[in-house]
Amino acid sequence: MPELPEIEVLARHLRPLLRGKMIRGVDVRRAKVLSPVSPREFRRVLLGARFTSLSRRGKYLLFRLRSKADGQSVTLLGHLGMTGRMFLARENERPQKHAAVVLDLCGENFIYEDTRYFGRLTLDTKAIQKLGPEPLSDDFQPAKFRKALKRSRQAIKIKLLDQTFVAGIGNIYASEALFRARLSPRLAANRLTATQVKRLWRAVRGVLAEAIAGGSTVPLNFGAGKTDGLFYFGRAPGAPDFYEERLRVYDRAGKPCPDCRRPIQRITQAARSTFYCPHCQRV
Ligand SMILES: [Zn+2]
Repeated sequence: MPELPEIEVLARHLRPLLRGKMIRGVDVRRAKVLSPVSPREFRRVLLGARFTSLSRRGKYLLFRLRSKADGQSVTLLGHLGMTGRMFLARENERPQKHAAVVLDLCGENFIYEDTRYFGRLTLDTKAIQKLGPEPLSDDFQPAKFRKALKRSRQAIKIKLLDQTFVAGIGNIYASEALFRARLSPRLAANRLTATQVKRLWRAVRGVLAEAIAGGSTVPLNFGAGKTDGLFYFGRAPGAPDFYEERLRVYDRAGKPCPDCRRPIQRITQAARSTFYCPHCQRV
């Protein structure tokens, strides 16, 4: 499942490609992904609208457009869910089997494709109102972070996945940040000392920033016949794996810890896998 860095890389990739483009046609193939907005309303608002900018909040993409009817600003919210992809394809490329929404941009199509339809592409932006601070922004400070942690007895790994607590971290970067901070994923959030919180704060920012920097070197052209490369479980065969190589513990159960060479362990927390080194992450 894509997390903050993957969405940030995708936003940076799509931003210049979409800027100024006008929506000539709207083809909704899975109404579920627009919910609670109806296909009719979706079409009415977007037809003739022009993309002005694209930003990211947590794991969400925020497409801004100027509507044709009254020039008002419109926000289109995208979320890739587990398996979604958003990309541009030339008009004559064969239609994608799992396309949920296709926007005709005069000469090319913006495609939101999803094999499981857990993602979103909608005018309903309520989901972002409840999000916690952006971990790479100035809003995310050790003192505030510590205060929020003090209020929870949950294991720190589970707490990091709570999007209302801090936005954008998922299973991969929670494991990676805890490894970097040398903290046990089982440690209760309210038991972290000020020093440990600072270490975790730095580790969270470090793993996310490095993933963004690394990911941006990867082409994100998802058109026909091209492999998607990275960002998703079930990576296309033969795709470059330099992304995975950067991960120190995630999905590396039984492999040697990069620091102490003892085997990485997988445990289950809140029905999700956690990967860690019991030797390096004892506290
Ligand atoms: Zn180790």
